[in-house]
Amino acid sequence: MAYLLNGSKLVASSKLLSVFERDPNKGEELVHELCDQLLDPTRFEERSDRIQWLKALISEDETFEKFSTKVQNMDSSPFCGCVWTANFVAYRCRTCAASPCMSLCAACFERGNHEGHDYNIFRSEAGGACDCGDPSVMKQSGF
Ligand SMILES: [Zn+2]
Ligand SMILES: [Zn+2]
Repeated sequence: MAYLLNGSKLVASSKLLSVFERDPNKGEELVHELCDQLLDPTRFEERSDRIQWLKALISEDETFEKFSTKVQNMDSSPFCGCVWTANFVAYRCRTCAASPCMSLCAACFERGNHEGHDYNIFRSEAGGACDCGDPSVMKQSGF
C-alpha cells in the first residue's frame, strides 16, 4: 500500500479513510505502513514534503485547513490556551482579574467586553499564557 505515497495526498487520505471504514484493523496496519515510510530517517531527503503528507493523512478526505477548523469547532473548552514567548503584546484587565497576574491574548481581550474597564496593554517580557476561561485567575464576566 506504500504506493499510495507516489500519488496525490488527497487520494491517499481518502483511500485510508475508506480502508478504515471497511476494516479498522486493516486501516491501522496501513497507517503504520505509511508512517514507517514517511518517518524513515534514512529517506528523509527524498521525503521533504513528509510534514504535508502527515497532515494530509490525518485530515481524512479533506484539506488540512478544513480538518483543523472542524476539530477547533469540536473544542468546547472555555480555555483559550494561547501561549506566547517574549515581546508578545498582551492585555490585562483589573476589572475582570481575580488575580493580579492575569493576562489575555489580543483575540480574547477583543472578544470579551472590557469597555470602560480598567485595563492596560503590555509587552510580555518573559512570555506567558492566556488566562481566558480560567475562573481562578479571572472573573467569568470577562470570558
Ligand atoms: Zn486567549
Ligand atoms: Zn475586563
